Amino acid sequence: MADSSTQKLHAILVPYPLQGHVIPSVNLAIKLASKGFTVTFVNTQFVHHQTAKAHPEIGSDIFATVRGSGLDITYTTVSDGLPLGFDRSLNHDQFMASLLHIFSAHVDELIGRIVESGEKIHCLIADTFFVWPSKIANKFGMLYVSYWTEPALVFTLYYHLDLLKKNGHFGKKDRREDAINYIPGVAAVEPKDTMSYLQETDTTSVVHQIIFTAFQDVKNADFVLCNTVQELELDTITALHAKVPFYAIGPIFPPGFTKSRAATSLWPESDCTQWLDKKPPGSVLYVSFGSYAHVTRTELIEIAQGLALSKVSFLWVLRPDIVSSDVVDPLPFGFREEVNDRAMIVPWCCQNAVLAHPATGGFLTHCGWNSILESTWCGVPLLCYPLLTDQFTNRKLVVDDWKMGINLSNTTPISKEQVSDNVNRLMSGQSGGSL
Ligand code: UDP
Repeated sequence: MADSSTQKLHAILVPYPLQGHVIPSVNLAIKLASKGFTVTFVNTQFVHHQTAKAHPEIGSDIFATVRGSGLDITYTTVSDGLPLGFDRSLNHDQFMASLLHIFSAHVDELIGRIVESGEKIHCLIADTFFVWPSKIANKFGMLYVSYWTEPALVFTLYYHLDLLKKNGHFGKKDRREDAINYIPGVAAVEPKDTMSYLQETDTTSVVHQIIFTAFQDVKNADFVLCNTVQELELDTITALHAKVPFYAIGPIFPPGFTKSRAATSLWPESDCTQWLDKKPPGSVLYVSFGSYAHVTRTELIEIAQGLALSKVSFLWVLRPDIVSSDVVDPLPFGFREEVNDRAMIVPWCCQNAVLAHPATGGFLTHCGWNSILESTWCGVPLLCYPLLTDQFTNRKLVVDDWKMGINLSNTTPISKEQVSDNVNRLMSGQSGGSL
């Protein structure tokens, strides 16, 4: 049994099992371990399986590539309750339900086993979207630290759901359409800029119930750590801090940003460096809609034709499942040949390496929060095309508040002419604001 007086602080860290949550959680684990913590990192078997397929060299340990640096991280996996072959993104509600009941029971069992072995765990760090952390932390006498991987603005909107309901901005068919201007520390937010879950008329889905419960549970957290930048969201953070022990600790990146990375990608990364090396500084538009969002085939075709019209060089991450239909290649017929001399199209890449490359001069993004933090860090301006969840709110921060990007389109449906015009505006540095 370990001597508790000499034992280092031990945190058990449980990320939400999606790419955009696993990456900042791995980075937090490395940061904590580099500050002297012992960390037990818990992945789902599904996420591990995907990661190991993408990085065969890691075997059973996603931290294998950073082990040499002496970090005290134990890596472990538990089942999320669904078979490995089950399509989690298509059957989202069943996936969520399984995380709620079966995954939580497995985490509970795992912690029980560690505690029984005589090892002290001081805190449970779990994603804010889980509904069960405070109960498990209480049961084992640990601190509960909630990890929020989206901006403070998104946190505070969810946190104040009761206030939104009371003021008629949420959960009614005839919702108010005027700006929300009563959330402490938040100037004003148009309803169209709130998270997609707040804009839906049916608020009885499994996802809604999970969000309501998670934001009740977070009220029991000893701390909330948020992967945002204090200076960028100061008013929101200060107002939140008066209610919850809320701390901005971001941006949390891997040490060296592109170097010393643990294996986190769920898909194999194509090497884009040689292609980028041949391009002039600031000349390439990087295009990616992240790990989770889908676009319609019509949208994709307009975007592709707009990129072709723009004459700009581009590197496009086109996930094979980006369009949720069975077409083998969703791109317009002849598009690949037409842009072949100035485009690289890959299924997945090392995004940090692309953003940090001198050839990259702009980023057409779905406004995932990690993408925004990474791009901002590299000084790459953003062309924003939000698709779901927090991405609408993130767009508002980037374009309206911080002037670090422009919208891809101000109307729907999107047209190839708008895409081409705005790509050229961004890449020629004529987008106004502080770009
Ligand atoms: N990412 C990557 N390679 C890619 C596309 C994305 O490594 O080809 C990483 C990206 O750097 C970011 C994460 O995947 O850290 C995506 O998170 P984000 O919050 O931007 O979007 P989400 O996937 O959650 O919608």
